[in-house]
Amino acid sequence: MMPPRNPTRPVRVGSTTIGGGHPIVIQSMCATKTTEVLATAAQATALAEAGAGIVRIAVDSRRDCEALAAIRGLTGANLSVDLQESYRLAAEVAPHVDKIRYNPGHLFHHEPERPWQDKVRFLVDVAARHGCALRVGVNCGSVDPAMRQKFSAGDSIGPMLHSALEHCELLDSLGFVRYCVSLKDSDPRKVVEVNRRFARERPDVPLHLGVTEAGLPPEGIMKTRLAFEPLLREGIGDTLRVSLTVPNARKREEVEAARRILDDLAAGRVGSSPGMERPGLDIVSCPSCSRVENEAFVELAEKIRDLTRYAAEYPITIAVMGCRVNGPGETDDADLGVWCGPNFVNLKRGKTHLGSFRYDEVLSRLKTELDAIVAEKRAR
Ligand code: SF4
Repeated sequence: MMPPRNPTRPVRVGSTTIGGGHPIVIQSMCATKTTEVLATAAQATALAEAGAGIVRIAVDSRRDCEALAAIRGLTGANLSVDLQESYRLAAEVAPHVDKIRYNPGHLFHHEPERPWQDKVRFLVDVAARHGCALRVGVNCGSVDPAMRQKFSAGDSIGPMLHSALEHCELLDSLGFVRYCVSLKDSDPRKVVEVNRRFARERPDVPLHLGVTEAGLPPEGIMKTRLAFEPLLREGIGDTLRVSLTVPNARKREEVEAARRILDDLAAGRVGSSPGMERPGLDIVSCPSCSRVENEAFVELAEKIRDLTRYAAEYPITIAVMGCRVNGPGETDDADLGVWCGPNFVNLKRGKTHLGSFRYDEVLSRLKTELDAIVAEKRAR
């Protein structure tokens, strides 16, 4: 039996409802190019058939918006759209989707002179007119810079939490209650802490759970369990996604993994991530999406995992990202960071950019850097 859940308010998203005592909704995301209408509609349908109550699609341009209108007509999946920096695109996508996800940390890039509160008012107006829900999606790699400044450099939880709370306050003051919140980090312990603290402050707001860039299976699933199991046992979480670095043809594994976590919890089978609590080499890799710049990305992540096994016992983080949109920011906290361009892979060590390398040459450079980091750790 599932543990009792927090008394969150219900938020309708198309034909499904998040929160308010409704069953936990599993989500996933299309990784096809949004402009490839048939492939994206087919993937959305396949994910819905596998059990995803909501399927997210990335939209970055007017062409993506046009594609989305066509996709809407080809799939019965409940659709959520992921807006990055172009918040104004919400007006064009809202007629075709059931939910809009915006990231508070991305509201600063376009029209920087315009206060973020005005931009949220715009999103609320659009969502209300078209009957869409909103998700305030706070992510560790792209927190509102103004909020970050209010906290000490070592505090990554405070800025995320307060950014979410401040957006909830504004949405409430605008009389818009059809929203949920997500607070994602690639570290499962931080996901637990920030969601616990948020749920204490706002037990009424439905939470979407996720470990961002959890990585390749099976490690990515084990890492996600570390965050989901304690939260769900405490009644926190109304919807969730297991983000996995898998090729397009295997995307339904995200939904299957989420289903297994929920089934295990209902059957009392928890604590199933042996060894993951110990510090060691951690590969943080994104699940890819429409923005991925080269399909070789998943293969690259797998090769990096295989190449770096020899350093498994060292507490080193390697971040592998699929695009330039999120790559530079999301690799900032890693010891080694890699993000893909169409023909070249960018590599950095800490915050220092080491250069762009061909796909067939980046691995040897990465190994050289990893050897040096391992040697430093041994010498300590
Ligand atoms: S890093 Fe880029 S490709 Fe990967 S999921 Fe995020 S936006 Fe998509």
